[in-house]
Amino acid sequence: MDNNYKVLIGLEMHCEISETNTKVFSSARNSYSDVPNSNIRPVDMAFPGTLPVVNKEAVKKALMASIILNCKQPEYMYFERKNYYYPDLPKGFQITQETKPAPVGIYGKLKFDCNGEEKEVRINNIHLEEDAASTDHYGSYSTIDYNRAGVPLLELVTYPDLHSADEAVAFLETMRSIYQYAGISEADSKKGQIRCDVNVSIMDKDKDESLEENWGTKVEIKNVNSFGGVRDAINYEIERQIELKHTGKYDEMEQQTRRWDEELGETVYMRSKVDAIDYKYFVEPNIPKFKISNSWLEKIRQNIPELASERKEKYMNKLELSEYDATILVKEKSVSDFFEDVLKEGIEPKIASNWISSIMLGNLNKLEKEIKDISLTPKMLAELITKVTKGDVSIKQGKEVLLKSLEEDLDPIKVIDDLGIKQIGSLDEIKKIVLEVLEEQPNAIDQYKNGKTNIIDFLVGQVMKKTKGRANPSTTYDLLKQELENR
Ligand code: MN
Repeated sequence: MDNNYKVLIGLEMHCEISETNTKVFSSARNSYSDVPNSNIRPVDMAFPGTLPVVNKEAVKKALMASIILNCKQPEYMYFERKNYYYPDLPKGFQITQETKPAPVGIYGKLKFDCNGEEKEVRINNIHLEEDAASTDHYGSYSTIDYNRAGVPLLELVTYPDLHSADEAVAFLETMRSIYQYAGISEADSKKGQIRCDVNVSIMDKDKDESLEENWGTKVEIKNVNSFGGVRDAINYEIERQIELKHTGKYDEMEQQTRRWDEELGETVYMRSKVDAIDYKYFVEPNIPKFKISNSWLEKIRQNIPELASERKEKYMNKLELSEYDATILVKEKSVSDFFEDVLKEGIEPKIASNWISSIMLGNLNKLEKEIKDISLTPKMLAELITKVTKGDVSIKQGKEVLLKSLEEDLDPIKVIDDLGIKQIGSLDEIKKIVLEVLEEQPNAIDQYKNGKTNIIDFLVGQVMKKTKGRANPSTTYDLLKQELENR
C-alpha cells in the first residue's frame, strides 16, 4: 500500500436479535425454520387493520447492547417509519429508529483488541428495527419467505475511526462476541444474522484526521455478509481509491454506493449520492412513545452476563492460564462454556485447557465441526481426562479416543471399552511381559551389561509391541531397569 495515505473506515453492522421468543412487533416465533412462511402472523404480512405491539424483551436486549457500548440511553423511546417499497417489505415501510428523536443508544465508545494493541472506536448510534422478509431468485421466478419479516434487528453505526481491514474485522469480532456472551444473539453470519455496510475513504496522511474537511470522498459498500468479505472489500477499495489518486481521477469521484461482488473479488458501482433515496422518515403513529425508567436501565445493567473480556481476565488471574490459552478459550462462548463445565467436573484448569484448546479444537477443526454439532458432553470429556490422568489410558490413546468420539458421535468410555484399549497399569501384569521380553532377547541383556544402557529403549519398545501400546511406559522403563540391574 502507498504510505502517503491514511484510511478511514466506518461500519454499519446489522445483527438479528435471536434470543427472544417472538418477533419485535408480532407474536410470531422468532426462530429459523426450514419451512418457508411458517413463523408468521398477519401483521408480518401487512394485512389491513393489524397493528404492531413492541416486544419488551427485544427492547431490553437492545438497551443492554447500548449500555455495553457506553452509549447514552433515551428517556423516551420512539420508533419511526422508513418509507420505501420492495416485495420483501409488504407494508411499504420499515419500522426503525432514526438518530432523532431517540434510538436505544447514541454517542458511545468501545475499546477492543487488534493484534495485541488496544484500539477505540466511537459509536454514533445503535437502534432497534425490524428485519425484512427474504427473497430467493430462481431464473424466471422469485419466492418470498416472510419468516424473517419482523425479526428484531440491531443496527450499530460507528464513526470512521477504523484504519485498516484488520481493525474493522477485529471490531466486528468483538461485537459478535459481546452479542453472544450477553445472550443478545447467536450472531451467526452463516445464518445471515450479521450483515455489514462498510464506508471507506482515504486522506492525506499528514492532514488532521479530526477535521472532517480533510476526509476524502466516502464510498459505501453495501451488504457484505461475512467478515472475510469485509476484509477483502476494504482492501480492494483502498487499492482502488489509491489508484484513482495516482491517475489523477480521485477528485472526479463522487460519493457513491457500491456492492461487494464475492465472485469477481471487486466492489461494483451501484449509485451515486445524487440518486440517494429519500425515505421520508416520520414518527411511527401506531407505537406511542414510552418512558425508559432509570430503575429499569439499572436492572438491565446489573444483569449483563459475564463478557469474554471478563472471563479472559478470570482465566488468567484466578486460574493462572496463559494469555494465549485464555484468548483461545473465550473466543467462542460455546467453547468457554464447555471449558467451565469441564472444570465443574473437578478437572484442573491447566489440564482442561490443554485438552480443549489444543486437542479438542484441533480435532474439530480437522473434522470441520463446531462444538454445537457434537454429542460429546463436558462430563464425558472429564471422564476421559480422568482415565488418562489416572494412567488407565495413555495420553496417546486418549487423544485417539477423543478423535474417534468426535468423529462418530460416541461416548469416549464406550470407545475405550469397544477397542479394549485399557492401559496396563498393574505392576504384576507388566512385570510378566518384561520377563517374557528379556527371555527372548538375551543379546540385549549382554549389551546392557557391557555398558550400552540405551538398549533399554529398544526393550521398552518390545514390551509396547507385545501389549499393543497398552503398557504404561514409565512403569515399563522402571521395571526393565530394575530387572537388568539385578542380573
Ligand atoms: Mn437498518
